[in-house]
Amino acid sequence: MAVHNYDVVVIGTGPAGESAAINAAKHGKRVAIIEKQAQVGGNCTHWGTIPSKALRHQVKQIMAFNTNRMFRDIGEPRWFSFPKVMERSRGTIDKQVEMRTTFYARNRIDLFHGVARFKDEHTLLVRDRQEGMEELVAKKIVIATGSRPYRPADINFRHPRIYCSDTILSLSHTPRTPSHFRGWRHWL
Ligand SMILES: Cc1cc2nc3c(=O)[nH]c(=O)nc-3n(C[C@H](O)[C@H](O)[C@H](O)COP(=O)(O)OP(=O)(O)OC[C@H]3O[C@@H](n4cnc5c(N)ncnc54)[C@H](O)[C@@H]3O)c2cc1C
Repeated sequence: MAVHNYDVVVIGTGPAGESAAINAAKHGKRVAIIEKQAQVGGNCTHWGTIPSKALRHQVKQIMAFNTNRMFRDIGEPRWFSFPKVMERSRGTIDKQVEMRTTFYARNRIDLFHGVARFKDEHTLLVRDRQEGMEELVAKKIVIATGSRPYRPADINFRHPRIYCSDTILSLSHTPRTPSHFRGWRHWL
């Protein structure tokens, strides 16, 4: 098992982890960051801020087209399925991932992919998808692992019409009313 030494190791590549890692690197520290998902960016990039705004942008464009009289001369209003609109939004997410990955390279921050867990106060074990293990020793460890959606016990999240913010983007049909989105409307 390889052992790596750092001044600062950050767990999580969401906005909190990214800022902590870059700030430490800019202060001359030797830094590593660990992400359990295949891509950097955290919930913000993959399930929250970026996808919701990319979706909103696509929907606004569709509505602008469908409500603009000029376009009626060339055809009827056109509607797209939710999965189709989501597919278009993926491009924005991919660009964000690419940009955020370069931040780490540019600031000489080592990026490890895998699940981090504490061995002791200054040591983390990182298990990657191939079951390989790395050991990271650091003077300071920043935990920036984010949060999970709250799932009240009296709500059946296995029900096919009930979603949380982690599952809503994998919706495979087009909702017919906005009621499905009530929970996250305040972000839009
Ligand atoms: C639908 C929606 C819309 C939103 N819109 C906005 C908005 O418009 N504006 C706004 O400011 N906020 C918005 N938010 C909130 C925003 O997404 C979060 O506040 C933000 O992502 C929190 O950042 P974070 O770095 O703390 O955690 P996260 O972004 O959750 O990142 C944590 C990272 O840690 C990783 N991780 C966890 N455990 C481990 C481990 N053991 N080992 C390795 N990696 C690990 C996770 O994989 C994840 O990548 C929205 C959220 C949602 C759900």
